[in-house]
Amino acid sequence: MPIAVQKFGGTSVANAEKIKRAARRAINAFKQGNQVVMVASARGKQTDQLVADAIELNPNPPKREMDMLLSTGEQQTVSLLAMALDAMGHKAISFTGTQIRMVTDGAHSKARIKSIDADRIHEKLDTGHIVIVAGFQGVDDHDDITTLGRGGSDTSAVALAAALKADVCEIYTDVDGIYTTDPRLYTQAVKIDRISFDEMLEMASLGAGVMHGRAVEFGKKYDINIHVRSSLTDAQGTLITKEVPQMEGILVSGATIQKDLAKIGLNSIDNKPGNAAKVFAHLAQAQVSVNDIIQVEVSPEKANLSFTTAKADLAEAKKAIEEIMQQVNCESIFVREDIAEVSVIGVGMRSHHGVAETMFGALSKAKVNIDSITTSEIRISCIVDIDQAQTALVAVCDAFDLDKPAEKRKNQN
Ligand code: ADP
Ligand code: ASP
Ligand code: MG
Repeated sequence: MPIAVQKFGGTSVANAEKIKRAARRAINAFKQGNQVVMVASARGKQTDQLVADAIELNPNPPKREMDMLLSTGEQQTVSLLAMALDAMGHKAISFTGTQIRMVTDGAHSKARIKSIDADRIHEKLDTGHIVIVAGFQGVDDHDDITTLGRGGSDTSAVALAAALKADVCEIYTDVDGIYTTDPRLYTQAVKIDRISFDEMLEMASLGAGVMHGRAVEFGKKYDINIHVRSSLTDAQGTLITKEVPQMEGILVSGATIQKDLAKIGLNSIDNKPGNAAKVFAHLAQAQVSVNDIIQVEVSPEKANLSFTTAKADLAEAKKAIEEIMQQVNCESIFVREDIAEVSVIGVGMRSHHGVAETMFGALSKAKVNIDSITTSEIRISCIVDIDQAQTALVAVCDAFDLDKPAEKRKNQN
């Protein structure tokens, strides 16, 4: 029997009416001949509320305890969903991450899934249950509860779809698909019908909060098509899937903005082999995730090194750099929190030229100063002042016609 995994985000289970709607959707999929696994997030803004409750008592709460607390939001939703299904006359059972052995590493607040025991889920599916799994949470080797990072229920869903060899993985959310950019920031953004794993991975890691980046990584690794769609309608959403040749014809598929960033710079470190390795090994040991790294030689003896990281990791990153700075003979460090990163993404960049020129030209016309630039094969990112981030995003979206469907944009093949 085919297996369908359906994930419901916070707004899609925010109240009793929405929980019933999600339950009915699962029953429909069951009636169509699927075994159904639901994955649910905490209701509405509950995770934010739990974070605020914690901070009120302790501005720097221990991460283990934070995971204990935050995981309760999802546990409430799954039991309520099971009750709703029961009231509709359907067999249903809810599970926490621990109960299905969603085993992760021990990195509290940003744990990575190592394995899932699918047996218990299969056993319940085979006896006609709809199985409901709490998203966002796992358990480590010491039986401590972990969480996968904000927005991590998407990753729970795609990882489960891979472990169960599911036929579909649907992500039900409050938008009807992936747009060229966040429609809340650029209202003219248009919906994308299909996007490649690589493009979505870049968009997610560069700030498109609609999908958790690790979820897309799982999708790519296990070749799981992910269908992102609205929980309010039956309209087709966006398929995140393998790259097809036509995608190369689209110059820029989307743009993102990342505000949750900080930049740390090490001025004038010794320009000799092993120094960058020392710095980044120390950051890795402190469990700091690093985004873009720029190193520039300023003389044969000296170099400047800078990198960006999530604001949440800034305190740990700064501490780690202060510990290591003497070892690399660094003269001074600087920290910038008032920055944002604006990026354009598209697999078409591999085979087209002129993208950088258009992007920098648009920013210049909008009088946005560029602090630094990083690129990959399929993206260009500029760090700008946070106050200019919105202006920069609009300028870039207008320049690449991201308010029009792909076939109507300029410079397309
Ligand atoms: P859920 O609670 O269902 O997981 P999220 O809030 O995590 O929902 O993600 C949905 C939101 O992501 C949308 O409301 C939208 O504002 C935002 N978003 C950011 N970038 C994009 C994009 N490129 N396309 C669609 N939505 C986006
Ligand atoms: N409830 C968690 C969050 O708000 C996980 C999720 O929604 O995916 O981040
Ligand atoms: Mg989300």
